[in-house]
Amino acid sequence: MTPIIGFAGYSGSGKTTLLEKLIPLLKQQGLRIGLVKHSHHNIDPDKPGKDSYRLRHAGCDQTLLATKSRHMLYFEYTDLKRDEPALAECLAQLDHNQLDLVLVEGFRDETFPKIEIHRPAYGKPLLYSNDEHIIAFTTDEIVQAKQHCKLPILDLNQPQDIADFILTWLGTSKTKQHYCPSCGEASLAFQPPKVFCCDTCDFTYFHNAAAAVLAGICYKDEILVATRSREPGKGMLDLPGGFVDPDESLEQALARELQEELDFIVHDAKYTASYPNTYRYKNIEYKTCDTFFVITLDEKPALKARDDVEKIEWIRLQDIELNNFAFNSAKQAIQRLKDQASK
Ligand SMILES: [Zn+2]
Repeated sequence: MTPIIGFAGYSGSGKTTLLEKLIPLLKQQGLRIGLVKHSHHNIDPDKPGKDSYRLRHAGCDQTLLATKSRHMLYFEYTDLKRDEPALAECLAQLDHNQLDLVLVEGFRDETFPKIEIHRPAYGKPLLYSNDEHIIAFTTDEIVQAKQHCKLPILDLNQPQDIADFILTWLGTSKTKQHYCPSCGEASLAFQPPKVFCCDTCDFTYFHNAAAAVLAGICYKDEILVATRSREPGKGMLDLPGGFVDPDESLEQALARELQEELDFIVHDAKYTASYPNTYRYKNIEYKTCDTFFVITLDEKPALKARDDVEKIEWIRLQDIELNNFAFNSAKQAIQRLKDQASK
């Protein structure tokens, strides 16, 4: 998720005016900026009579209006009892691959980092004393603010100072902060080797080793070797097998994987050993415990390469080059068979 920072202040405090000045300053630093704004008004930027308006009002629940320079996505919520939108729901609509920072206006009661905007002349109450997620205070009365506020105080009339504060905060957040999937706070800490823990809400996640199965399908002095059709290790060699699904036994996982990948029905698989492995998928490192089963055949069956297997081939154990294998667990399993065969 992209870092988010909000601007909290009563209506009339100048949130939109400040954002309008801040956005170009942040863009100058090369940041790609997203914005989520909450409104209590029933906004419809579409105009009655336009084609898009007519089609939406014909009953579409979602409409995407696409042009070369812009697209607009409309979701229609007709349930009058629907709650006000939640911030997480709104953030999920953005394409975070194309953003470096999301600015949020409104959603004052939600828990995420915010900068309070306060103009004493408007006579509204202060927010920071009741919201521990306010990380800075910006005002047009600096001297007065210093008497009551211990937070970093920023001059509302110096948008560059506010932009600099955000850039510093962002630099820190990039290196140190992780957002909690439960409460949304930037307080998720990783305790190696496997625990993620949130200081705010006590959310705890154990990134335990996942179970997986590997099959050594052998015929005389040959073993069946697969070429991977997908990352990680696309194009490299592997043994047939895969992850154990929830509520499956190792034997069931083995039977399912070999059926899916090879159209092979397992009869007599013998548990032989297990090996720890590291499987990096889309930048997440999964530690696995790969269990190795050996299946010895009297004749070569008709097999088909399917699913995440590009092709299959029978290779004599003594001819196998272990460096062509994607994973250490399969290398160790084959080395074990090589050692046994040479005895
Ligand atoms: Zn949390």
